[in-house]
Amino acid sequence: MIVLRSPDEIKKLRASNRIVASVMGEIKKAIHPGTTTLELDEMAEKLVLDMGGTPAFKGYNGFKHTLCTSVNEQVVHGIPNKRKLQEGDILSIDIGVKLDGYFGDHAVTVPVGKVSEDAQRLLRFCEEALWKGIERAKAGNRLFDVSNAIQVHAEAAGFSVVKVYVGHGIGTSLHEEPQVPNFGEPGTGPELKPGMVMALEPMLNVGVADVKVLGDAWTVVTADGKLSAHFEHSLVISENGPEILSLAA
Ligand code: MG
Repeated sequence: MIVLRSPDEIKKLRASNRIVASVMGEIKKAIHPGTTTLELDEMAEKLVLDMGGTPAFKGYNGFKHTLCTSVNEQVVHGIPNKRKLQEGDILSIDIGVKLDGYFGDHAVTVPVGKVSEDAQRLLRFCEEALWKGIERAKAGNRLFDVSNAIQVHAEAAGFSVVKVYVGHGIGTSLHEEPQVPNFGEPGTGPELKPGMVMALEPMLNVGVADVKVLGDAWTVVTADGKLSAHFEHSLVISENGPEILSLAA
């Protein structure tokens, strides 16, 4: 069942997502060649706690960190570690926060120093694909109108869309119904209604869409070892179109 959130609940979702956006802003400033993802994770945890939130990924199915940090061919769910980031890497940062019983979720992929033109193009199209999906997240549209807009934008540029991981509803749980695939047939799926809250999160690969999970049981990588990017916003469907909750104020 897809829950429709009340105005009071949406206020709480704004508040948890405000932390997510604010912490992401600080973490982005700290990403340089030589920084480790573990340092970024420790910084993020402190910032979340200072703002009164709880890291939502920490403890989720045994995950031990505040951030998922996925470098280069890693798609999502990378584990922060002591490897120094290098000029030319691309780094996906994903953060979830719980505040007052309500969740926020947001991800970006950023260049570390100067990156290749191919990498820049991947990041640009992945972020644009997210925005194409957001534009379709309007009351009266169907869910897979959103999915299709993401897919069309990505595939027209020659990228492949990861299919086995999807966006999701978000509210009093980190992951709720509906699942929001990054591909689908327009005009199909549940009708979008005011009060629906969801996290859209396209994952785009330069090469094949196939992915595999590493031996750490978390890190998802592309099957062919080519680059992958990931962007995510949490939003609520309102009478006046989508309100993006995880944008910095
Ligand atoms: Mg998510």
